[in-house]
Amino acid sequence: MEYDYLLVGAGLFNAVFAYLAAEDRKKCLVVEKRSHIGGNLYTEKVEGINVHKYGAHIFHTKNKDIWDLMNRFCEFNHFVNSPLARYKDELIKSIHVKWQIIQLWNTKVPEEALKKIESQRLKKQTAFNFEEQALKLVGHDIYVKLLKGYTEKQWGKQATELPMFLIDRIPLRFTFNNNYFEDPYQGIPIGGYNQIFEACFRKADVLLNTDYFKNTDLQKKADKLIFTGMIDQFYNYCYGNLEYRSLYFEEEVLDIENFQGNAVVNYIDKETPFTRIIEHKHFEFGKQSKTVITKEYPVAWQNEMEPYYPINTTKNNELYNRYVALSKRNAQIYFGGRLGAYKYYDMDKTVKASIQLYHEINNYQP
Ligand code: FAD
Repeated sequence: MEYDYLLVGAGLFNAVFAYLAAEDRKKCLVVEKRSHIGGNLYTEKVEGINVHKYGAHIFHTKNKDIWDLMNRFCEFNHFVNSPLARYKDELIKSIHVKWQIIQLWNTKVPEEALKKIESQRLKKQTAFNFEEQALKLVGHDIYVKLLKGYTEKQWGKQATELPMFLIDRIPLRFTFNNNYFEDPYQGIPIGGYNQIFEACFRKADVLLNTDYFKNTDLQKKADKLIFTGMIDQFYNYCYGNLEYRSLYFEEEVLDIENFQGNAVVNYIDKETPFTRIIEHKHFEFGKQSKTVITKEYPVAWQNEMEPYYPINTTKNNELYNRYVALSKRNAQIYFGGRLGAYKYYDMDKTVKASIQLYHEINNYQP
């Protein structure tokens, strides 16, 4: 065989896989239907600013080995994600959309906030949907202001129709620390994410603008196939369609230096149609004279759209498991990444899953 691996998709999962394969002296052919490598981490320079083309991406992890691995490919800055929230006309500075609540009622010390929550919690043994679970966990005010509108917008459904799994646990943090992630390692690659992919795919052959489904013959060139697209599409939807949520991005260049003073501002009321505005220059502390912003609109997924988020309801997970069972019939084909595993993986989890798969197949670890 000409190649050891045919890698479908040039996103993070396959980038790490290709890197390990190259270290292990194995040959990879990569096919990517987009016109660039990088998957959803792809950044493009606009007015000298690295624009995150598929949504804000902030690398964060608790895992030092993964952090060290990523640092082989690029240098990270010390960006810390501290999003602000807009609720109608109000700018909420030190309330975190999910975790940080101490200022909601102008309380002065954590204990007052805690008491307020206790007094509002829904006292019910079993919750049956997102709304009930949220009310059980955080009570009325936080739920209505910080969670309800944003969540309904994000998923395009009423909170009473949404499953509980979206909100199993809300780790409340009673501090003024606005760092969204609690991970010790966090940052943005100085100069954008693309350099990670250039480094990882350096020794692989890459075919861009190439949809695997129109070029399935390429499979004959490699021993094994690693597929990071939609698993239901791979099997021609034989058991039915999995559900996804999509996004629509509206990008604007503004002739001003600073639009919102922060990389991410979440719009948590239901009336505003977008969920957040990203101002890209702030990821890298940019001083350019112009600025680029992106509004992010959640939309229902339909064929041909980008499937950004798997919707892990019980029904979808069961359907996914049937596809996995089907995949076990062919020992040369593996599924990975966000779409192949049908899981919302943060970047560090994607990296970890890729290392694990490489190790499983090859008994090799970096
Ligand atoms: P992808 O990046 O989706 O790559 C898959 C690639 O496969 C794509 O390039 C696609 O074009 C290609 N492909 C699919 N089908 C075919 C086909 N038939 N033929 C050829 N090519 C194909 N994680 C964090 O840690 N921090 C964040 O701040 C963060 N923000 C996020 C924001 C958004 C809006 C989203 C959607 C995700 C975010 N993530 C974040 C998660 C992160 O994007 C993923 O962990 C990571 O991109 C997963 O990499 P992947 O390789 O599995 O998938």
